[in-house]
Amino acid sequence: MAKVKVATTWLECCSGCHMSFLDLDEKLVELLSKIEFDASPITDIKDFHPVDVGIVEGAVGNEEQLEVLRKIRENSKILIALGDCACFGGIPAMRNFFDKDEVLKRVYIETESTVNPKKVIPHEDVPKLFPSVKGIDQFVKVDVYIPGCPPDPRAIEYALKELLEGRIPVLPPELLSYE
Ligand code: SF4
Repeated sequence: MAKVKVATTWLECCSGCHMSFLDLDEKLVELLSKIEFDASPITDIKDFHPVDVGIVEGAVGNEEQLEVLRKIRENSKILIALGDCACFGGIPAMRNFFDKDEVLKRVYIETESTVNPKKVIPHEDVPKLFPSVKGIDQFVKVDVYIPGCPPDPRAIEYALKELLEGRIPVLPPELLSYE
């Protein structure tokens, strides 16, 4: 039987959700007999191709992230929002309490570790920042949500196994908290 193709990506995030994925440890080896990774930070394949399942970690806070999100959505039959950032905006959405220009000034000029004598905020060669950070379903259709910061590896395993059985996963309450 052909393996189920999976692509993953990360947007505005800390990579902790992918680390949780890798925390499946030996169970990942078992899963790899049924799935294969295409584009992913895990494989370092950067171009998206049509896959059965797309998994997105992270929120959307700039135009490059939105472009990546749209590409993985277009190429995925089922799209999973992995982690609180992808589901709801999560930690990156804490900047939504501040004006975008205040955030840029703080990051590029005021931070204690910054050396920027000309006090220039770059506008070229960096993706345009959106006024606020949002979960991915504010931009594209999401089929499955796996919340958590990070999600419990068992929740990721459960969701993938349900999908392999042809079911859209509904996480049981015990998998909604990290152990
Ligand atoms: S949900 Fe938590 S672990 Fe995942 S990317 Fe966001 S901050 Fe990191």
